[in-house]
Amino acid sequence: IIEINHLKKSFGDNEVLKDIQTTVNKGEVLTIIGSSGSGKSTLLRCINLLEKPTSGEILYNGENVLQKGYNLSTYRTKLGMVFQSFNLFNNLNVLENCTTGQITVLKRHPEEAKKIALENLDKVGLKEFQSAKPSQLSGGQKQRVAIARALSMNPDVMLFDEPTSALDPETVGEVLKTMKDLAQTGLTMVIVTHEMDFARDVSDRVIFMDKGVIAEEGAPEDIFVHPKEERTKAFLSRIL
Ligand code: ATP
Ligand code: MG
Repeated sequence: IIEINHLKKSFGDNEVLKDIQTTVNKGEVLTIIGSSGSGKSTLLRCINLLEKPTSGEILYNGENVLQKGYNLSTYRTKLGMVFQSFNLFNNLNVLENCTTGQITVLKRHPEEAKKIALENLDKVGLKEFQSAKPSQLSGGQKQRVAIARALSMNPDVMLFDEPTSALDPETVGEVLKTMKDLAQTGLTMVIVTHEMDFARDVSDRVIFMDKGVIAEEGAPEDIFVHPKEERTKAFLSRIL
């Protein structure tokens, strides 16, 4: 569904992504692991064009989204993003957080938007909290609202950047469970995470990034049990 060809990204003299080559296939769960500073977030932010790649191609359904004249706003609505820091609208309640984008961006009728929002809040187990304000929720609940909000836009691909790193340990599990449930619905997901047990459990494919390159890529078994690259082995032995 997304194909990345020779993607490079520099910030000044600092080349953060060096010739990234990979694909995101429809229905798969792709996780990206690697040390701090290896370029994981930058890769996600290039995929959804929060950062402009320095060079290379991003093909979405076969079309290069970086070419002149490509309809970027439509492309962006096809990608749902969940951040470490939730980024909820704190002045809106839970339901409104999940309807506002549908109404303003997708031009959905408010009643339809509400119906879709409630379906997604139900999926993440928070329908009863529809009238709550974000400030009344735990971190895990906020993150599940952020997931429901992203799902309400009917994205083709969901991107997650360390969705559990800002959470109290006791709420990490509920968010991972929600993500695992989503993975089982066949949603296409790209997840940057430091939760190795989770990555091993839910991924179809794992990418290990090191200093701006994909050092190794494969099935969870290949990466976690039989890594080939010394860099992968060293990383795993540091964190496992
Ligand atoms: P972490 O696990 O800590 O989140 P990461 O793998 O997500 O790390 P990135 O955030 O992609 O790493 O950062 C990769 C490199 O790019 C770092 O050296 C960082 O300092 C640099 N970088 C990222 N964003 C910017 C920016 N907006 N301007 C300048 N440099 C940046
Ligand atoms: Mg990051």
